[in-house]
Amino acid sequence: MYRLLKTDGRAKRGELQTVHGTIQTPVFMNVGTVAAIKGAVSTMDLKEIGTQVELSNTYHLHVRTGDKLIKEMGGLHKFMNWDRPILTDSGGFQVFSLAGLRKIKEEGVTFQSHIDGRKIFMGPEESMQIQSNLGSTIAMAFDECAPAKAERDYVEKSVARTTRWLARCKKEMQRLNSLPDTVNPNQLLFGINQGAVYADIRIDHAKRISELDLPGYAVGGLAVGETHEEMYHVLDETVPYLPQDKPTYLMGVGTPANILEAVDRGIDFFDCVYPSRNGRHGHVYTKFGKINLFNAQYEKDDRPIEEGCQCPVCKNYTRAYVRHLLKAKEMLGMRFCVLHNLYFYNHLMEDIRGAIEEGRYSAFKKERLEMLNTYDKK
Ligand SMILES: [Zn+2]
Repeated sequence: MYRLLKTDGRAKRGELQTVHGTIQTPVFMNVGTVAAIKGAVSTMDLKEIGTQVELSNTYHLHVRTGDKLIKEMGGLHKFMNWDRPILTDSGGFQVFSLAGLRKIKEEGVTFQSHIDGRKIFMGPEESMQIQSNLGSTIAMAFDECAPAKAERDYVEKSVARTTRWLARCKKEMQRLNSLPDTVNPNQLLFGINQGAVYADIRIDHAKRISELDLPGYAVGGLAVGETHEEMYHVLDETVPYLPQDKPTYLMGVGTPANILEAVDRGIDFFDCVYPSRNGRHGHVYTKFGKINLFNAQYEKDDRPIEEGCQCPVCKNYTRAYVRHLLKAKEMLGMRFCVLHNLYFYNHLMEDIRGAIEEGRYSAFKKERLEMLNTYDKK
């Protein structure tokens, strides 16, 4: 159950009550692809850095280890020892971007596993069954994420099919939730808006999927090659046609600046691999922009990664030491950078929530965007 607590312009401050606890929004979900955050970060760590929602990838868990085994082990929450909300994606994005040779039909998609090349079929029902076996808090609808540069004609047909798939997802999820041995009988299904950069297709699709009265809606198919301006334009046009009294999730986005802009356009759920991926390469976030700890200027720098940061790394270690670990290829160096970066994102969301509550989001956004550009200006 989603409660809209406050609005400030289009920015939303809400909370989503789930069987695994209440999510305060806007929220950044921490991406743990195969039920682990890359960079040797555990669920114990996630609690320490203020993570509200962990996100796992259906496709990856299905092809390796397998959702049936995870169900036997009591579901994903028990398996990875995480009692807070988990969101699973539908597998659609990986099927369309990662898997080899694929064939799309009305029933679903046949593709080859990127691990062992075996043929797998996945349609709306299969995706729901896998996510039901995992027992996540929030399951995502199975959709096709058309390339950003796809022709209009292709996008129209693809979106129409995605709409039909969504009705099948809803029906199958209801059936699975009612089974006696289901892991999470209260699993929530979010629908996904598609339509590439064509505003009219997006709007029409948003209206159609809203009629299904799902517990939440995502905007998908962005951050796949279009410009930031195109993405903001799509949000300006589309979000007003998604229900305001439901959570709105922008999939796979993005930089701190992207998040600040998208919150201002009514988005309240985010996920992105940037903080963990950048961390693994020694790129760390600060209020004033991203820095590369491999740079020689940090060799004797006895300040924390970010001054004033309350993360476990910044409270205990210097830039010089973290840089040394990275240079020595010690796993600890990566781990520290990922921990700091995820804390940075989680903490940014906390500041965003505070600014909306106090009705000063617009000024807050402007100030933060300027600060983030500090290093780039030099
Ligand atoms: Zn820190």
